Amino acid sequence: MTIEQHSVPDELLAALRRHQRVLVAAHAHPDPDAMGSSLAMAWTLRAIGVDALVFNEDGMPAFLNFLTLPGPVLSSLESLPCEPDLVVCLDCGDRARLGDALQPLLDRVPTVNIDHHLGNPLFGSEANWVEPGMAASGELVARIAKALRVPLQGALAEALYVAISADTGNFSYSNTTPGALRLVAEMVEDGLNLPRLRERMETNWTETRMRLWGRVMQDVRILEDGRLAAALITLDTLRAYGATSEDTEGIVEQMRKLAGVRVSLMLREEEKNGRVQVKASLRSSGKDNVRDVAAQFGGGGHRNAAGATLPLDAEKALTVMQPYIRFVWNRLQ
Ligand code: 5GP
Ligand code: MN
Repeated sequence: MTIEQHSVPDELLAALRRHQRVLVAAHAHPDPDAMGSSLAMAWTLRAIGVDALVFNEDGMPAFLNFLTLPGPVLSSLESLPCEPDLVVCLDCGDRARLGDALQPLLDRVPTVNIDHHLGNPLFGSEANWVEPGMAASGELVARIAKALRVPLQGALAEALYVAISADTGNFSYSNTTPGALRLVAEMVEDGLNLPRLRERMETNWTETRMRLWGRVMQDVRILEDGRLAAALITLDTLRAYGATSEDTEGIVEQMRKLAGVRVSLMLREEEKNGRVQVKASLRSSGKDNVRDVAAQFGGGGHRNAAGATLPLDAEKALTVMQPYIRFVWNRLQ
């Protein structure tokens, strides 16, 4: 069976065909959907003869080092060989999510915006394709590749699978649509070796990551009569374990596994311009809306997966967020 052709906007396809030197970028601190959709987009552009480079402010995360790259992933614009004539923005609910380094470039170069976040303000100057009903930005890129007649095979298919698998909680969240499943089925029919890819995805933890997770699980706070699980990860903890933000990827999902927990919250401290700030990640399920909580603090995301950055340390962030989190189960549905 072939997947249904979702209507990729014509102006988006035209923009991708018209330009020659494209920079593909996604949100900083890339998760598998951000990086997987970036790599897949670069492979797609290469296949139609367009020069494409991938940029991410935080570079290529080590936990995805099993993916085959279409070239180096730039983390500084100084290493750009020439000025791009288009920036493709992926998986960014707003422009700021691309990070500070890219903002001046976005002011002077045409942009297209491809995303699946509710409330995306359509910031692309040449084209926008925002589909909150799609499981992952990778799913949108898959449909773009198909519209451009690029086969979903090899490294392109692997990048798409990683993107879609991550954003659907390995095909378990409510965003796991028949369309997303059909897309994977079609890639498997076309040669995607799923057992081999999953083996590479699931056997690449570092000892640092394992030990950090152990510590975080020990210290997890169970609050609000068991309805809230919160992990506070301080700069001191990260330093003590020699860990980075990448090593915390997945912790917030892990905490949702505790029976009775309706919201899980990870507060990870980071340093910016010599000051401590905290990256908050929230998860829920069903009607429990954590996007509204994140939005209170200038963030966003999806109903069941959202985030924000607060100019506070982890303890203070928990104190200010907790009353808003109570609304999640107290509100009239
Ligand atoms: P995560 O917790 O994995 O960083 O992000 C969960 C979801 O919320 C993702 O869809 C992500 O794009 C979104 N998100 C996370 N942090 C922010 C933020 O600071 N601003 C906005 N608008 N969305 C965010
Ligand atoms: Mn995504």
